Amino acid sequence: MSEPRPISPADRTTAPFWDATTQRRLVIQRCDACDAYQHYPRSFCIACEANDPPFVEASGRASIVSFSIVHRAPHPAFEAPYAVALVRLDEGPTLLTNIVTGDLDAIRCDQRVTLIWEELPDGRALPLFTPEGT
Ligand code: ZN
Repeated sequence: MSEPRPISPADRTTAPFWDATTQRRLVIQRCDACDAYQHYPRSFCIACEANDPPFVEASGRASIVSFSIVHRAPHPAFEAPYAVALVRLDEGPTLLTNIVTGDLDAIRCDQRVTLIWEELPDGRALPLFTPEGT
């Protein structure tokens, strides 16, 4: 990549997520009141509206719900072609990410994927996924 990806700064709600990425830990919220998981981070539970659901570590295993192969990069940080995908974590929530593989044509919906990390210049990291067994 010729320059870093544009990444939003952490705020009060997303800081625990970003802090965990500095240790290469993927965390999602799990509500103490109703046990619902959610991602992206929010200041309340989307199932029962309890405030500030705590973060727990996710397994890092997921399945592809949908994906698209991008052939024209929208920003110099992205090198086309690449795969953008919505994956469903084994805990339930979905996460928008990239599938990193040498064979973009082999990506399929329902394919099992596992977590890998892309380091960012500031010490944080992005959770990306790669097909299981590769
Ligand atoms: Zn809840």
